[in-house]
Amino acid sequence: MKSRIYLSSPHMGGLEQEFVRSAFETNWIAPLGPNVTGFEQDLESYLGNDVKVAGLSSGTAAIHLALILLNVGPEDEVICQSMTFSASANPIFYLGATPVFVDSEPETWNISPEYLEKAIEERIAKGKKPKAIIGVHLYGMPFKVDRVMEIASRYDIPLIEDSAEALGSKFKGRMCGTFGDIGILSFNGNKIITTSGGGALVAHSEEVKNKAIFLATQARENAPHYEHREVGYNYRLSNVCAGIGRGQMQVLNDHVKARRENHHFYKEIFEAMPGVEVFSEPSEEYSSNHWLSCITIDSQLAGFEREELRIAFEKENIESRPLWKPMHLQPVFKNPVYYGSDVSENLFRNGLCLPSGSNLTNNDRERIKKVISHFG
Ligand SMILES: *Cc1c(COP(=O)(O)O)cnc(C)c1O
Repeated sequence: MKSRIYLSSPHMGGLEQEFVRSAFETNWIAPLGPNVTGFEQDLESYLGNDVKVAGLSSGTAAIHLALILLNVGPEDEVICQSMTFSASANPIFYLGATPVFVDSEPETWNISPEYLEKAIEERIAKGKKPKAIIGVHLYGMPFKVDRVMEIASRYDIPLIEDSAEALGSKFKGRMCGTFGDIGILSFNGNKIITTSGGGALVAHSEEVKNKAIFLATQARENAPHYEHREVGYNYRLSNVCAGIGRGQMQVLNDHVKARRENHHFYKEIFEAMPGVEVFSEPSEEYSSNHWLSCITIDSQLAGFEREELRIAFEKENIESRPLWKPMHLQPVFKNPVYYGSDVSENLFRNGLCLPSGSNLTNNDRERIKKVISHFG
């Protein structure tokens, strides 16, 4: 059996073990220590714009804390892009709040400004102004940042920028993760850099960063004994994992470059194939890290279905996967409130994510190309 080619697998740069070793040598085997602080500083200088970063145990934890920091509670509604990974929406339920799902637009596959505004208007008309908006830069593609931010600020609703897939992506030259009132990052094993598991909350003040760290470390008040006035969480990043992160930061730009090259590789292969569209930036304003390269297949024009290609890859032990199934179609979210048409549903039906690791080899590319060549 040929070795498996994954969609996106961890890719170490080499220095990670040095940072992890130093954690062991200094006995900082805890959810605090020099690697946590160092990793946070690395992220702050990488993202620029004077952001303040809190290292956390996961991207999901970061979204949960972001909602808490924005005072979301059981009576509240939160607008969330429907086409995304469930981790964008689950924390809304952790708080007993209600998600209002919004469709994507076809250019960036992310939250539709039209339906976002419609949702806000209708929820307000029904007597409840949404407490927050969660927009997602899917597959690294920035959402329509200008338009979404304009709507959020016009209605005075805070924006949570789910940048879990978009570290290194830019809109008009500015780093994704720095636009929202609060941004979030993920360092899960399949993301553009990994700490094996981890995440971060991106704030615009030291105060918000410190509040996030306070909540993430059991909301312990400043006292010699354990004193608590608020409900706390155990969400801080470990110093061992942060050591991996510090090593990964040194190769982040290489990873972005490699993933963008994967995108070009697929553009070239599919160029001559009618009915197959490689997901690409709509204009020069957008720069995706191309975390995953994706295609949509118009089976009428292409003469084959998405599933035929996926199964052909699988036979060669190559992983590919349908796009995210929209949240308003997920059985777990019963009777969802949804604003939109069929854009995300069609993307889910016709779209495929392709192997996109920064560690794809030439040999891997040849195997991928060979499978695709049977379809052209
Ligand atoms: C991965 C991911 C998350 C969650 O991050 P974890 O670190 O896995 O908890 C949230 N949103 C999106 C869009 C993601 O892809």
